[in-house]
Amino acid sequence: MPTVVTRFAPSPTGHLHIGGARTAIFCWLLARHYGGRFHLRIEDTDLLRSRQEYTDSILASMRWLGLDWDGDLTYQTQRTALYNQYVDKLLAEGKAYWCSCTPEEVEAMREEARAKGLKPRYNGCCREKGLGPAEGRCVRLKTPLTGKVVFDDLVKGTIAVDVAELDDMVIRRADGMPTYNMAVVVDDHDMGISYVIRGDDHVSNTPRQIVIYEALGLPVPRFGHVPMILGPDRQKLSKRHGARAVIEYQQDGLLPQALLNYLVRLGWSHGNQELFSLEELVSYFDGSSLNPAAAAFDPAKLEWCNAHYMRELPLEELAALTAPFVEAAGLGTVESTQLVELCRMFRERAGNLKALAESFRPLLVPANQLVHAEKDAAKHFTEAGKAHLRALADIFANCADFDAASLETALHGYVEGNGLKFKEVAPPLRTALMGYMGGAHLPEIMAFLGREECLARLRRVAA
Ligand code: GLU
Repeated sequence: MPTVVTRFAPSPTGHLHIGGARTAIFCWLLARHYGGRFHLRIEDTDLLRSRQEYTDSILASMRWLGLDWDGDLTYQTQRTALYNQYVDKLLAEGKAYWCSCTPEEVEAMREEARAKGLKPRYNGCCREKGLGPAEGRCVRLKTPLTGKVVFDDLVKGTIAVDVAELDDMVIRRADGMPTYNMAVVVDDHDMGISYVIRGDDHVSNTPRQIVIYEALGLPVPRFGHVPMILGPDRQKLSKRHGARAVIEYQQDGLLPQALLNYLVRLGWSHGNQELFSLEELVSYFDGSSLNPAAAAFDPAKLEWCNAHYMRELPLEELAALTAPFVEAAGLGTVESTQLVELCRMFRERAGNLKALAESFRPLLVPANQLVHAEKDAAKHFTEAGKAHLRALADIFANCADFDAASLETALHGYVEGNGLKFKEVAPPLRTALMGYMGGAHLPEIMAFLGREECLARLRRVAA
């Protein structure tokens, strides 16, 4: 089998979005599965909208997702001379021609076709004029007049387009710049790309690109057009659906392996399996089982997937990843063993690292800054509740050891020794310690806080 070479070709006109990221993942996996190569090409020919900061951001997102690329990065703006060599070749072979029609004239032709109920198109006016280069002239391809372009799409199956539907497309604009379709064909050939996997918003470009390959006498790669990701309401995906740029998920504290796992399942399957290690993905992803039907984005499932990876991660690693979020939440620098302990207590309860860091807040602020949730305080800081807190403060003040096991014994000793029920004592205690009716196992919370901080919290409420 020849080497599988894929590429991801983003336009740096915005951050990497989940649709683009999924395409990149598919391309990367296919190359890695077959032990081939994966290239990254920056399609920056739209000078007005392309920005270096977006290229940097796309690269950062690719690195964060672990999608490493082979060889150097390619920038289309640095390759104009190469594209023009191919345009010149087509001109020299009589497969392309100079066209002097002005944009207004071309628009008039389109209008005329529309008026006749035909597809708007350039009418081939300069095709046989034998014009040479001159200011304001573009170069057009002599698209064959009859026949079909047929290709076997990896996702959509066989696609056939009548060439009569394609007009003589511009391959070099009047300003000397090659057009998008021309540049892509030259690049994909020059980079040895054997599989072009991209969003199906490009499917209408493919027959045009194939016509260019054929005019140049070049082998045509295999194409695969993946359907767009839709919102849960099956409308075009947008911010309103909770869809965001990869960098925003990173800022929210999603784990890259969770986002990758989630995205790969949007449009690809391996039986009913939902969670995959990277090794499994590389081993299973062979370009088959790509779903031709559009998948819908489901933020809840993404969070579920992330929670899974948060549970799977070694605690030390989770703590190290959470540390910057703790700092960003204004909770200061927490010593690493403490952070590990916090992660252990709270990781089951958070869907992302930002929420996890935030869940530590009640345990990291001093007693006098702990905020009591109004509803919980009103319900549990009753006279009886406060009496329990006073009694417990005395017990905890005298506990020989302040570890979770000793505190558990002391707490149960108080409850049982006084013929009480745990649910009479735990809620005021929990609200006094955490500020609300949530959090982890009470003895563990107390052990984490330490004696002084615990007593301060109980006495603040029950003094
Ligand atoms: N630059 C194009 C885009 O960002 C991709 C073109 C391609 O993959 O051929 O949509």
